[in-house]
Amino acid sequence: MPLYKIKLIDRQAIAIQTIKFVFEKPLGFTFKPGQYAGVTLINPPETDAGGITRRFSILSSPDDTELAIVTRIQSSAFKRVLNQLPLGSEVKFAGPTGTFTLHEDQSIPAVLIAGGIGIAPFYSMIRYATQHRQSQPLYLFYGNQSIQHAAFLNELSDAQQNHSLFKLIATMDTPDSAWQGEHGYITSTLIKKYISDLAQPNYYICGSPVMVTTLQETLVEMGIEEEKIRVEDFPGY
Ligand SMILES: Cc1cc2nc3c(=O)[nH]c(=O)nc-3n(C[C@H](O)[C@H](O)[C@H](O)COP(=O)(O)OP(=O)(O)OC[C@H]3O[C@@H](n4cnc5c(N)ncnc54)[C@H](O)[C@@H]3O)c2cc1C
Repeated sequence: MPLYKIKLIDRQAIAIQTIKFVFEKPLGFTFKPGQYAGVTLINPPETDAGGITRRFSILSSPDDTELAIVTRIQSSAFKRVLNQLPLGSEVKFAGPTGTFTLHEDQSIPAVLIAGGIGIAPFYSMIRYATQHRQSQPLYLFYGNQSIQHAAFLNELSDAQQNHSLFKLIATMDTPDSAWQGEHGYITSTLIKKYISDLAQPNYYICGSPVMVTTLQETLVEMGIEEEKIRVEDFPGY
């Protein structure tokens, strides 16, 4: 796997405890939407048992001139150090790798199911598909605690306005009164409400291990063939 040293060039808070980190993109770096990389801190001022490396989905579209990742800041030394890394600092970046990428047959719809920060690989897929006006229908079920926790909600709404084949179904567990979308967890009832022919699409699930396992079981109980379900779970959530 290719290994690079890349510089942090920007950091943006985009939702509660959720930070987007932007890095310089190495010359000639290419990847498929949905792939990930290993990010390793160089000489961090503190470490813990979790170590100095984490894997992150590449948030950017392959067309972007920079490389971005997004994460929820939790209590690990890795996240503390990353969150305070001065702009211009370097990290090691090993990738791209991974096979959590969309199927190639554009006539088969893709149902993307994201829990919280599990949006990361899908955001890359959706941006690339909309930038290239791809003919593949994309349905994104995006579950969050509240609007304030939901990263890229405005950008995804805009993508839906601009690309008729992309449908966003956002749902909040504990929405405030201003929220007009779906309420509660992503369930079989919610999926059936928007997907009329359940047998046609391929299904992709990304989020915490508990969320991924639960939704995978839900899809199987709904009669979806197991080979039509692809999953990526984010340990540590
Ligand atoms: C392919 C892939 C892509 C990923 N992409 C992203 C991404 O885009 N954004 C993102 O935020 N995260 C992503 N992750 C997860 C990421 O690598 C970290 O594991 C996560 O962000 C938690 O890191 P942390 O430092 O906050 O917590 P950690 O220090 O890693 O762990 C937090 C807590 O979880 C527990 N824990 C750690 N690992 C496990 C495990 N395997 N099983 C059960 N409990 C465990 C720890 O004991 C601790 O209590 C990805 C993981 C994979 C495998």
